[in-house]
Amino acid sequence: MDRLGLKPSQEAKVIFGGTFDPIHQGHVNLAVELSDYLDVRPISLLPNHQPMHRSNPGALANDRAKMVSLAIAEHPQLVLDTRELERKGPSYSVLTLAEMRQEIGTEAPLIWCMGADAFAQLTSWNRWQELLDFGHLLVLSRPDSNWLLEPQLLDFYEAHKVDDGKQLLLSAAGKVAHLELGQYGVSATKIRKQLHLGNLPSANELSPAVAKYIASQSLYGIN
Ligand code: ATP
Repeated sequence: MDRLGLKPSQEAKVIFGGTFDPIHQGHVNLAVELSDYLDVRPISLLPNHQPMHRSNPGALANDRAKMVSLAIAEHPQLVLDTRELERKGPSYSVLTLAEMRQEIGTEAPLIWCMGADAFAQLTSWNRWQELLDFGHLLVLSRPDSNWLLEPQLLDFYEAHKVDDGKQLLLSAAGKVAHLELGQYGVSATKIRKQLHLGNLPSANELSPAVAKYIASQSLYGIN
C-alpha cells in the first residue's frame, strides 16, 4: 500500500490498444511513460484485427504484430497481446475488456488507454457505454487533438471523470481520466505517407528495427 492506500500496482492490468499500422515512437514512448507514471508492469500493447471505426489497415495483422514486437524488444515493461488478432471477426474493445475482466477477477483495476483523438470518436465504438462496466478509460493528450467533445460524450466524461490518472488504480472499473504525458507529434498516417513517398522516417518517429522490417517486407509501398 502507498500513501493513497493503493493496492500493489502489479495487480492492475493496463492496455494500449491500436491499429499500430505501423507502431511508432509516440506509442512506445507513451507506453513506457505510462508504466512509470502508474508504476504498473507490464503494459500490454494490443493490435486490433479489424477495427470497426476506421478503414482497413495498410499492413496485414501479422506484420503489424511483428512490428510491435520489434519496437518493444528493448522495453521489458511492454508486452504484445495478440488476442484480437487471433479472434476472427471485428475487434470490439468491449469484448476484449469483458474477456480480460473474466481473467483477472472482479477486484483488479483494468485500464484501457487511448489518445484524445480516439476518445473523441468513442460514441462510434460498439456498446461504448458498457466499456466502463469492465474497466476504466485513460485518455492521453495528443498534439493537435483538441478536447471538443460532442455533448453526449462530454456528459459521459463529466459523469465518470477523476482528476488524477493514478486514482484509476483505486477501483476496478467505471472511471475516466485525462492525462498529459509526453507530447509526440507523430502519427501512423504521417509515417505511411512518408513511406509511400520513399522516405524513411527518423528514429524519433519510427524504431530503426521497425523501419528495417518495413523495408525488408516492402510494406506501405516502399521498395
Ligand atoms: P493513424 O494516424 O493511422 O490514425 P495513430 O498514429 O493514431 O494512427 P493508432 O494505432 O491508431 O495510431 O493509435 C493507437 C492509439 O494510440 C490510439 O488511441 C491513438 O489515439 C493513440 N496515439 C497514437 N499516436 C499518439 C500520439 N502521438 N500521442 C497520443 N496518443 C497517440
